[in-house]
Amino acid sequence: MKKQNLNQFLEILDKMFPHAHGELNYQNIYQLFVAVMLSAQTTDVRVNIVTPSLFEKYPSFKALKEAKLEELEDLIKSVGLYKTKAKNLISSASIVVDKYNGEVPTSLEELIKLPGVGRKTASVILIEGHNIPAFPVDTHIERTSKRLGFALPKDDAYKVELKLRKKFPQEMWRKLHHQMIFLGRYVCLARKPDCENCLLNEICPKKEYKVKSKSKKV
Ligand code: SF4
Repeated sequence: MKKQNLNQFLEILDKMFPHAHGELNYQNIYQLFVAVMLSAQTTDVRVNIVTPSLFEKYPSFKALKEAKLEELEDLIKSVGLYKTKAKNLISSASIVVDKYNGEVPTSLEELIKLPGVGRKTASVILIEGHNIPAFPVDTHIERTSKRLGFALPKDDAYKVELKLRKKFPQEMWRKLHHQMIFLGRYVCLARKPDCENCLLNEICPKKEYKVKSKSKKV
């Protein structure tokens, strides 16, 4: 995408999603940590269904550290990969309590050493929990970045993240990452992007809408 189109891209996104925000429910950084860990390969809606009873039973890292594996599994069994997630939650809670005195680490390097915490999860915790600049790249951001020409089809999530970090100023990362998730979740869908109704179709290099329009005229 050309440089002048980048400004247009940001303006259009503001029009499309002026109030884009994270859709996981949480009240504090402990709850954010748990919700983000649970959200891997699961919808936020599903996570929001199980977290109220989880937070009631285990209101802190200390309580989660002491959780019995089978009881935690039972609480989150409607979430994908629940057995692995339950094990990782208890292990991570133990490390946070024992090594970090109950405080969530503030660096990506420390966060990704916790069991089950990948780069995307760590980045969400940094940006949402600690207000430290990060650019979490999930499946929606990876896909829309490629369609919009910010990254190459062969790029993995890490390469996409580096390219987005380079292209956009740090102070935009938080809002932009929410807006791009909304774009991928509600308009630029994986199987059937709604290019015809997407306000970005004039500047988007994917041009499905334009191709369709031309072919209709023939
Ligand atoms: S024009 Fe189509 S491909 Fe481009 S961002 Fe919009 S929905 Fe996605």
